[in-house]
Amino acid sequence: MKIICIGRNYAEHAKELNNEVPTSPLIFMKPSTALLTDGKPFYHPVFSSNIHYELEIVLKISKNGKAIQQEFAASYYEEIGLGIDFTARDLQDTLKSKGSPWELAKAFDHSACVGAFTPKSALDMSALHFQLLKNGHVVQNGDTSDLIFSFDYIISYVSKFITLQKGDLIFTGTPAGVGKIEIGDQYIGVLEGNEVLNCSIK
Ligand code: MG
Repeated sequence: MKIICIGRNYAEHAKELNNEVPTSPLIFMKPSTALLTDGKPFYHPVFSSNIHYELEIVLKISKNGKAIQQEFAASYYEEIGLGIDFTARDLQDTLKSKGSPWELAKAFDHSACVGAFTPKSALDMSALHFQLLKNGHVVQNGDTSDLIFSFDYIISYVSKFITLQKGDLIFTGTPAGVGKIEIGDQYIGVLEGNEVLNCSIK
C-alpha cells in the first residue's frame, strides 16, 4: 500500500505557513513504513526539534483504479478516518529553501498516524466537521466545506498519474492550527463528535 498526501488544501493553513494557495493539488507520498495505527504512541525522533501535528481526513481506497473520472470517484472509497501527518517542520523549511523534495521531513517512520475508519455512507461528506484536541484543548477545527480541492477531484487528479490500489490511503490536507508536538502530549481526533484517533507522544 501507499500513502498519498495533499498539501495546502485549506486556504487558512496555506496562509499560516506563508505559502500561496495552490491552483492545482500539491502531492507528496509516504511509504508503508510511515504508517502508525491502533492508538500506538509516536516516539519523537532525534533528527528534528520541531515536529508539527497536522490533522487530516483520510480516505481509504476500496478498489483499484486509474484515470478515474471525477463523477465516478466517490465509488473508489467506502471508509474515511482521521490521520495526523507528522511533519519535521525544521527539515522541511531547509529542504524548501533549497528547492529540494520533502521526503525526509514527511516520509519518516510512523509519520502517518491513522485512527479508526467509519463507513462514508453514515456521513455527509460535503460538510464534515473534525477537530484535534491537544491535551484536552481544541487546537484544530476543520470542515470539508472549506476544502480547496474536493475528495472526488483529488482522486480524479491523482489517478491520472498514479494508479490507486485497494488499501491505499489519501491524506487530504490539514486546516489551520498546526503546531509543535512535545513529549508527553496526548492527541485526540474527533470526527463528527466521535473520538476516532488517539495518539500519545513519547
Ligand atoms: Mg499535511
